Amino acid sequence: MKNSNLIEDWRNQKTANRQKHRKFVKKLHRKKGKKLDELGDELHEEVFREVDCLDCANCCTSIPPMLLRADISRISKHLGMKTTQFEAEYLVEDEDGDMVMNSTPCPFLDAENDNKCFIYEHRPKACRKYPHTDQLEFSQNLRLHAVNAQHCPAVFHILERMMENL
Ligand code: SF4
Ligand code: SF4
Repeated sequence: MKNSNLIEDWRNQKTANRQKHRKFVKKLHRKKGKKLDELGDELHEEVFREVDCLDCANCCTSIPPMLLRADISRISKHLGMKTTQFEAEYLVEDEDGDMVMNSTPCPFLDAENDNKCFIYEHRPKACRKYPHTDQLEFSQNLRLHAVNAQHCPAVFHILERMMENL
């Protein structure tokens, strides 16, 4: 069952827990390995059983996703646009030279209605992988998790539960 209190708890507690999460992920560098990744996967499943992304959409609202060439050609094709036209209309180059969506909230988020993504089946790889806490990749993104706990209620609660487990 989804538990919207987790999103509310995150809103109320994220700032106060910022430093604690930074220190915790630094300590996790010493625990890197398969066991940590398995625990990441387990807590990811557990927390996402309780958090409904459609009640949140904070990543789509506040973090412009990066698009790879394959994303650009797939989405352009889906929209019936030339890649150059799609890039001009929706993308911008960031300070690292990556192509990202040019506005927040994301132009493909249906924020007026149900927070669904207009291009869900074709969405960028970065959107599919966010928040990078599962697929046995938890330990590859430790510093990112401390940052993402400020943007994503699921990451916040995964870190909180991990602290209780370790
Ligand atoms: S493309 Fe879709 S999933 Fe990705 S940020 Fe935009 S609305 Fe969200
Ligand atoms: S910020 Fe996290 S919980 Fe919210 S929609 Fe994105 S992935 Fe889901």
